[in-house]
Amino acid sequence: MLTTEWETEINKCAKCGKCRSICPVFIETGNESMVARGRISLADALRSGEIIHTERLREYLLSCKKCLRCSHVCPSGVDYDFIIQAMLDDLANHIGIWLIPRIVFRLFLTRRWLFNLLLKTASIFQRVVPLKRHGTMRHLPFMFMGGRWIPPLAKESVLKKYRNTRKIKSPKMKVGFYVGCLINYIYTDIADAVIEVLNHFEIEVVVPQGQLCCGIPARSLGDIKTARKLAETNVEVFEKANVDFIINACATCGRTLKRDYPRILGERCLKFTNKLYDISEFIEKYCTYEAKSLNTKITYHDPCHLYWGQNISKQPRDILRRSSGFQEMENPERCCGGGGVFNLLHYDLARKIGEYKTKAIEKSGADVVATGCPGCRLQIEDLLAAQGSAVKCTHTIQVLRDALLLPR
Ligand code: SF4
Ligand code: SF4
Repeated sequence: MLTTEWETEINKCAKCGKCRSICPVFIETGNESMVARGRISLADALRSGEIIHTERLREYLLSCKKCLRCSHVCPSGVDYDFIIQAMLDDLANHIGIWLIPRIVFRLFLTRRWLFNLLLKTASIFQRVVPLKRHGTMRHLPFMFMGGRWIPPLAKESVLKKYRNTRKIKSPKMKVGFYVGCLINYIYTDIADAVIEVLNHFEIEVVVPQGQLCCGIPARSLGDIKTARKLAETNVEVFEKANVDFIINACATCGRTLKRDYPRILGERCLKFTNKLYDISEFIEKYCTYEAKSLNTKITYHDPCHLYWGQNISKQPRDILRRSSGFQEMENPERCCGGGGVFNLLHYDLARKIGEYKTKAIEKSGADVVATGCPGCRLQIEDLLAAQGSAVKCTHTIQVLRDALLLPR
């Protein structure tokens, strides 16, 4: 149901076109229906009844990466993210959600045991099918997900590995770790580093077992029912864990928990959201340390959902400057082309957007590119593997762990 608040936001747009100059999708396509201004015009047309809810409209809405850049340069202060999310919800109300995503969201995302089973089956497939490799990356056949390079699924999920809390003698504080799907099932090395670093600072880390997906894939397709269910479960699980802070190492999950949960659940989740920190934000605020500077040239890619979504860019750089031979790349905040639903639906476009990023990484002369989002890591690793590049991608917290010389 579209609201007055939605109409107010639409009316704010002065049609100046400034969003066109920075939108990664518009820069590649030049298509006015694929940029904030064009989609706001579509919203206007929907309001006046000039257009109706169709699959074509959905296509234009889902061609947005939700990178949030446009909202930050908009001179009229239009809350574009709010406009597009309301349209996606409304569209789902009118013409429904595609069948396969609906099954995945409602059956698997809300039931951890079933999701585990699905991923276990996929990991067996990954092991038995002889796929072309580049390092640990595996190349999928073209007809299967467009010939992507993907990392292996973990043999043991983070939730299973850390079901028992590592006890710390006289801990300074107790934090809850919101893991997120990519870290739980693929990038378990990021979780290892988070826990090792926090334990090093005498902080006890609890990984609450009932936690589920943050809900962003469901929310992106307008499945508000599933998104609400997931949000309610996560808030409840972390409230029961009774922790001082809640940390996460995924820019997209972090932004969803901080910004979308209050919109979905209202004030009742403020106790939860007030405790949330991205791991780099938390380290720089609460931990004092001296790290050995690693003899590695490291550059940094700003995830959109950290840089634009949470205003976090100094903290990861402070960590990397102290831990390595840090080398800034050109336009580090430029989008890598990653991003869940967009990447799945527009893989060719995502790769085109990412071309600038891989060139900037190579040009920086770094051996390693660090970032703060497993989604960006997935995209950057795919792009680098496709080029046969020797540059490695990692998470900022893994660099700090190595610089602190922590035993594994
Ligand atoms: S920058 Fe803002 S005001 Fe200008 S066209 Fe884009 S959304 Fe509208
Ligand atoms: S959120 Fe990003 S992709 Fe979407 S319109 Fe704004 S700049 Fe373009």
